[in-house]
Amino acid sequence: MPIDKNQIIEKEKAVVDGIELTADWNRMFEQRVIFDYDTSALDKVTDVANAESMGWCYQCGNCVPVCPVDNVGEYGPRKIFRSLQLGVDLFTSDELWKCTSCAQCLRVCPKEVDMIKIMPAIREEAVLEGDVPEELQEAFTNTFEYGNPMGESQRKRADWVQNAGVEVPVMKDKKAADLLWFVECYPAYHNRGKEASVALAKILDKLQADYGILGTEEKCSCDSQRIAGEVGLFEEFAEENIKTFSKYKFNKILVTDPHALNGLRKEYPKYGGDYDVVHYTTYLAPLLDKLNLTRSLDIKVTFHDPCYLGRHNGEYAAPRNIINALPGVELIEMGRCKEQSYCCGGGGGGMWLDGFMADHVTERLSENRVKEAVETGADVLVVCCPYEVSRFEDAVKSTGNEGKLLVKDIAELIVEAMG
Ligand code: SF4
Ligand code: SF4
Repeated sequence: MPIDKNQIIEKEKAVVDGIELTADWNRMFEQRVIFDYDTSALDKVTDVANAESMGWCYQCGNCVPVCPVDNVGEYGPRKIFRSLQLGVDLFTSDELWKCTSCAQCLRVCPKEVDMIKIMPAIREEAVLEGDVPEELQEAFTNTFEYGNPMGESQRKRADWVQNAGVEVPVMKDKKAADLLWFVECYPAYHNRGKEASVALAKILDKLQADYGILGTEEKCSCDSQRIAGEVGLFEEFAEENIKTFSKYKFNKILVTDPHALNGLRKEYPKYGGDYDVVHYTTYLAPLLDKLNLTRSLDIKVTFHDPCYLGRHNGEYAAPRNIINALPGVELIEMGRCKEQSYCCGGGGGGMWLDGFMADHVTERLSENRVKEAVETGADVLVVCCPYEVSRFEDAVKSTGNEGKLLVKDIAELIVEAMG
């Protein structure tokens, strides 16, 4: 709201620390144009529950160089705050959909301006108004109708097990297990995701792990849809998955997808589902001795930290421990790694906004990252998030690096080393 000019008092005479200010200096207390700007666009954002911190920005600029979207375009909370001061309506602006929720800005922000809360809160309002990019809306609709964002048949959710070459137990038959493996959508349906699932099934089989999958009973965890603003859909799916979990006895939930890890670990407890949730790298790292990893792979690799495993959930060591235990594998870190890792562009709904983002960036985030991986001289870019295999493989092709760099899930490398 505009400042009431009548509240500003101009003094006839001003004395500061015993020094009388000159008339010229004293006139600096006059109303200036800067006090007269309209704050309604900013107020509209900060009035929304969970988006209050947008108003705390003091323009220090720390967030600008770390924002992966700003690296290939113009973005970051500092710039959003400034545009709000200039009257841009974030609720209807394209700026609302560019954030991948990577958490880089929150890591460095001295004022704790929290885009991970701001974006879902404002996006939720936009979703309710129907102001959603078309391709994102399609992913929401697919999730609602089919239980997964790709629009695949629910009946085919466990079809990947036919290629596993080992028995993949189902909770419906077992009723109880040490681990309930929550496979998630991309590892269940995407071609490269399925190959990683097959690899993990072989590893679990070799470990003689007591586990089961939900198969056709499993539905999308919906954490990325939540961050993209479809909070209602998330709540419905969380309640449904929790109801399914309640039918079985298990000690831990094992997840392939760091986005599912985040949702199940941090959000599902709010809906009554409080579980011990573990990412497969965290689970496997201490068990490698049992896998008899004897085959030397003789490769150089580099590793991409998933935003939702690293910055969001603090796991940087387990994937590296696994890579370092693989015979004949040399790990070369990229400059932007661990806490400072770059983003593949798939988080926060970015997985379903590639067409939209193409109009706003000079190159895809995944392309920027692949170029960095190639510069290390690595043969393989190792990943442990199902969004990344497809994103990075596409980026290897579009940047002309086919034949120079392979993209592999960490589980695939373990199986290769098992001989
Ligand atoms: S780091 Fe925080 S306070 Fe500094 S400009 Fe960015 S959002 Fe504003
Ligand atoms: S969360 Fe990541 S993409 Fe979003 S504004 Fe912050 S640094 Fe940029």
